[in-house]
Amino acid sequence: MIVKNQRKQRKKKQKKEDFGTCSFYCKPCQYEFEVEWETIWELQELTHGFVGFHTEDSFISCPKCHELVED
Ligand SMILES: [Zn+2]
Repeated sequence: MIVKNQRKQRKKKQKKEDFGTCSFYCKPCQYEFEVEWETIWELQELTHGFVGFHTEDSFISCPKCHELVED
């Protein structure tokens, strides 16, 4: 799992800080995609009520096959 902190220019949301994105890789699709940490935290909050800079049990799914992506 490689965590990249990428600063991107935000156009829509202008709230808080930009925490960057986390890269995920779907093995079946051989597809790498990025999810914003804020999105990950929203999922974490929904699933187990606490958030952090980890991706275990975050239930990130691949945008292509919609399978959960694991480390
Ligand atoms: Zn996939």
